[in-house]
Amino acid sequence: MCQRALLAFDFDGTLAPIVAHADDARVPDALARRLAVLAAAQPLAIITGRSVADVVGRLGFRPWTVVGNHGAEQAGVPLRPAPALDAVRSLLAGAAPMLTAAGVGLEDKGLSLALHYREAADPEAARRAIDALLQPHQDAGSAVRIFGGKMVVNVAPADAPDKAHAMRRLVERCGVGAVFFAGDDANDEPVFSGAPPQWVTLRVGPDGHGTAARFALPGPEDMAALLDEMIRLGDL
Ligand SMILES: [Mg+2]
Repeated sequence: MCQRALLAFDFDGTLAPIVAHADDARVPDALARRLAVLAAAQPLAIITGRSVADVVGRLGFRPWTVVGNHGAEQAGVPLRPAPALDAVRSLLAGAAPMLTAAGVGLEDKGLSLALHYREAADPEAARRAIDALLQPHQDAGSAVRIFGGKMVVNVAPADAPDKAHAMRRLVERCGVGAVFFAGDDANDEPVFSGAPPQWVTLRVGPDGHGTAARFALPGPEDMAALLDEMIRLGDL
């Protein structure tokens, strides 16, 4: 399966356009058709902050594998408890009325927590409330790692694998030297910055100033032309 290039894609903002309600996000049919052609010929992985169970029904094609929870969850491997998150879970449970009033949605994905504020009436105020609440867990010796995304704050165990770990694991499984990875957000940057020079890395979206990726694409709507080129070069 892994004799050709490994193609790896983030989901939200990379294959699926960012939408007002995260539950509405899907890979557009036009992209799913092209991804299916590529996935039939070479290993194609999805590496997302979503849980595996959440993302698989949004793809519209069957990839080789899916990695969820920002790199910590492998498809087919049962989730183990993440006790490092328990103190933050308790904190958030106690602050639930305040978070709800601020328009913050809490998502517990087992191996990570997400505080979404895209739907808040005042997103900046919601973000400040989240930051103030999590401040006690921000120090360097914390059991958790807190990192932002697009209108979301994520909390993961400090020692959980990130997307860069996940990519290295996939490359080892595949035994390939040719690697492509596309992502659009802060949690994709460790892949870009840690990539060996022969990897092709792509930051998607208009807000990638200062990215460590080698290449940039204006947005997911430009992905179809890129996939067409991959299909053409692969003679698929
Ligand atoms: Mg993304």
